[in-house]
Amino acid sequence: MHLYVHVPFCARRCSYCDFAIAVRRTVPAEAYVAAVVREWEGWLTHPIWHGAGQEVRTVYFGGGTPSRLAPDGISRILERVGRDRSLAAGAEVTLEANPEDVTARNARAWRSAGVTRVSLGVQSFDPGVLRWMHRTHTADHVPHALDALRAGGIEGVSVDLIFGLPSALQRDWEQDLQLALALQPDHVSLYGLTIEDHTPLSHWAGRGEVTPVDDERYAVEYLAANAALEAAGYEHYEVSNAARAGHRARHNSAYWRRDPFIGLGPSAHSGWGVERQWNVRDWVAYQRALEVGPSAVAGSERLDDRAVALEELYLGLRTRDGIPAEWIDADDRCRWMTSGWATETGTRVRLTAEGWLRLDALVRLTSSRFRSTL
Ligand code: SF4
Repeated sequence: MHLYVHVPFCARRCSYCDFAIAVRRTVPAEAYVAAVVREWEGWLTHPIWHGAGQEVRTVYFGGGTPSRLAPDGISRILERVGRDRSLAAGAEVTLEANPEDVTARNARAWRSAGVTRVSLGVQSFDPGVLRWMHRTHTADHVPHALDALRAGGIEGVSVDLIFGLPSALQRDWEQDLQLALALQPDHVSLYGLTIEDHTPLSHWAGRGEVTPVDDERYAVEYLAANAALEAAGYEHYEVSNAARAGHRARHNSAYWRRDPFIGLGPSAHSGWGVERQWNVRDWVAYQRALEVGPSAVAGSERLDDRAVALEELYLGLRTRDGIPAEWIDADDRCRWMTSGWATETGTRVRLTAEGWLRLDALVRLTSSRFRSTL
């Protein structure tokens, strides 16, 4: 079993962000922990546990900004999970953090609460870019954060970087990559900027104040990241993730394997077998729902055979482990190979970085013929 806990609170909304967040100067920690624990209690008798064992193998505090929740809140949620089920020996417990929230004291408190891994929202080291993004940290916060996390005993540190920014910002992507790698993080996540509806960025774009980066520049930056990471000894093991040996993200890997997972908190998704369900997005609506009942589910669906097959294809192609070769027509495999989009090793096909740039198109084209016998 894997557990995701969505902590929605942020100090402000970043210009590109369309996540389910609640901007709060003060985090309502008591109310939040009470709501999450109540939702957790509702899961204890759920059939999701049948066949999934009683152990929680990974926990991921995502957001929002989980580092704005006092460490005591993290500790209470983990303690409750460990009491009702067991946290597996060596469980991976990840906390997303903004660099300015990482102090020596917080790092120690997170570690003693059970956090083993921290994912830092770095995004860029360029002061102008950080301001444009509405980030609340400065580049100087980042090395201090890594030092504090390591001194505090956190075993794995990941950094998030965003590429594909509008050319007008004149962001030096190569320099940002080198500054990130100089800090020797255990793991790097790469996100291409997309313009989502109802964000400040989409309003700027609507008014013609921002021109999205063109496909060519986007590809150049993605491939540059792939080359820099692999040259530095990282394994680019998934379309958006690279890790040093032994530091693949186990929680995310569980999603890609389609393991069962419970999501707690506003907007959190849960999945087991062919079942999927998700919570209301809004924090206040979530809190109210948990005051009157054991869940805050907004919707659910049952995947049919074709949807499962498509999910397996898509998730498999995202990862370096790839998919069984027989899932793809020999003609397509041949075309992918000669185009440099994939490699075939033994019985598996996996995409290259060039292939990952075309992931959606390859899945779309392939899925029309994929498992046509279903
Ligand atoms: S800190 Fe993260 S979740 Fe919060 S607004 Fe910024 S990008 Fe969104």
